[in-house]
Amino acid sequence: ESTKPSNFLRQIIEKDLEQGTYATRRWAGAPGDAAHHAQGEPDPAKIRTRFPPEPNGYLHIGHAKSICINFGLARDYGGVCHLRFDDTNPEKEDTEYVNSIIDAVKWLGFDWAQLGQAPGSAAPYQASDYFGFMYRAAEYLIEAGHAYVDEQTTEQMRANRGDFSKPGVDSPFRSRTPEENLRIFREMRDGQHEDGSMVLRAKIDMASPNINMRDPAIYRIRRATHHNTGDTWCIYPMYTYAHPIEDALEQITHSLCTLEFEDQRPFYDWLLERLTEGGLLASPPPRQYEFARLNLTYVITSKRKLAQLVYDHKVSGWDDPRMPTIVGLRRRGYTPEALQVFAERIGVTKSDSWIDYSTLEGCLREDLELKAHRGMAVLNPVKLVLTNWDDVMGAGHLEPCSLPALPHPPEGVESPVRHFTIGKEVWIEREDFEEVPPKGYKRLFPGNKVRLKGGYVIECTGCTKDADGVITEVLATVVPDTKSGTPGADSVKVKAAITWVGVADGVNAEVRMYDRLFLDAHPDAGGKDFIESLNPNSLRVVTAIVEPSLANAQLDDKFQFERHGYFVADRVDHRAEKPVFNLAVGLKDSWGK
Ligand code: ATP
Ligand code: MG
Ligand code: MG
Repeated sequence: ESTKPSNFLRQIIEKDLEQGTYATRRWAGAPGDAAHHAQGEPDPAKIRTRFPPEPNGYLHIGHAKSICINFGLARDYGGVCHLRFDDTNPEKEDTEYVNSIIDAVKWLGFDWAQLGQAPGSAAPYQASDYFGFMYRAAEYLIEAGHAYVDEQTTEQMRANRGDFSKPGVDSPFRSRTPEENLRIFREMRDGQHEDGSMVLRAKIDMASPNINMRDPAIYRIRRATHHNTGDTWCIYPMYTYAHPIEDALEQITHSLCTLEFEDQRPFYDWLLERLTEGGLLASPPPRQYEFARLNLTYVITSKRKLAQLVYDHKVSGWDDPRMPTIVGLRRRGYTPEALQVFAERIGVTKSDSWIDYSTLEGCLREDLELKAHRGMAVLNPVKLVLTNWDDVMGAGHLEPCSLPALPHPPEGVESPVRHFTIGKEVWIEREDFEEVPPKGYKRLFPGNKVRLKGGYVIECTGCTKDADGVITEVLATVVPDTKSGTPGADSVKVKAAITWVGVADGVNAEVRMYDRLFLDAHPDAGGKDFIESLNPNSLRVVTAIVEPSLANAQLDDKFQFERHGYFVADRVDHRAEKPVFNLAVGLKDSWGK
């Protein structure tokens, strides 16, 4: 039992565990049936969930929610979760996507099982491996009078399906005998009919108020080579038929999906009931439960639309740090922990709503606050010259300084220490000097004293300018014996400490400052063209100067650049000799504006 906040899915699972709903699964049919053999023995796992992506694109933040729900519930209740590639559509799959999905699930911190195989060693399932069983099940439905071959044209079928206001009309082919249906279905399988000339339909109820129950198509003819089964088949099952069977064969207990599948649930139940009756599947069958999909402001979560951004070069690729894909979020500096906390925090509900983007950012900020090493980086540099340095400190002298990398290290752990030096010249932020200070300004202006963080107190004396009046150097004097961490540090009181990087040991770095990809909070709502709301300033590249500890970053290392926000060493482009950092998230919420 878990201590996490309850939700309707947890309540359902807890009740099933209490009642032992799935503790004993049994076959209704003859034990020797070849179909059972394919499924192995009933496996009394406590609960068994699955994450069933179609390998036709990269996973996004919405899928992360689904992954965390499915794998998280299985983990919390001592069960297992399957990873299944829903590859029953022969045209769209690609191994590039298969590999990226495997990486994404693992990176999020989850591992999948198979029947009889524990997490860690199991391969993912492939729905196409069940084509043989799906075909046999279709023959069973035909023999039992539950399915028929329909030769109406697509237009006739659509017209005869009716709509919400009127019942459908029976197909003239609906009353064919099982023998005739079986013969023609086998001809379909054997390639004797043209693509699109006929379909196999479930025989349910053309007057059902649920249009999905008006004899849905379950098999179609499609001469296409499948990445797994090659040219073995020229007929392929429809998703609505394939999916319940996939769940049942894997002995899934709770099949969790998004709300748009709610209207499909009666067919899901109808199909599994028929096949269980026929002894083809174990009983009780899995049950489907729907939860609200994730809608995040300023984000689109449609694979098709995300693909358009990639193919139209609106972003640099699927892993562009502005993309809501898992690879994009990862490159942006998101951590698996932050995404897991996000999934917990938004919870599971039965009605659609919009989640504010700041909720996601808040989860990352919280995670990095305690973990990310601190460092100083100057993003908009101007040179500060300490004009008395050579006299009071010695010509060319570099004074070693240090600061803790973690201001709040975990209990009993000492923070690592960052080392850097101060000399006659340092870089400071241009905004930290004002020739004529606005009211309340506490940083550098002529006559004012501030601390260079981790270094000395300095007193500003003025600046130099070029012919255009642009400030080229800020001038100051160092106040000796005020170095941080020495007894004299507090001898001079100042109202501000500013960040800086030494000219001698600072390293140039490319820093990619990201902003929201869309200006509209609901970029694709109501049929809007989301391309029109692309933010033209979603990426600004600056050359920053960073302290030496930052230049030594490993790929994917996250830092807090003091006062600027959290940054990550870009996992693709960062090099020791040419550091590249991405802005992951600012220090404060900027989305409410
Ligand atoms: P898209 O509409 O972006 O193409 P999809 O729903 O077709 O996504 P699948 O690969 O079929 O993508 O999805 C795998 C699982 O992820 C499904 O169970 C689906 O319900 C779930 N899922 C997809 N998008 C979201 C979302 N925005 N929020 C929660 N779950 C989602
Ligand atoms: Mg899909
Ligand atoms: Mg979809």
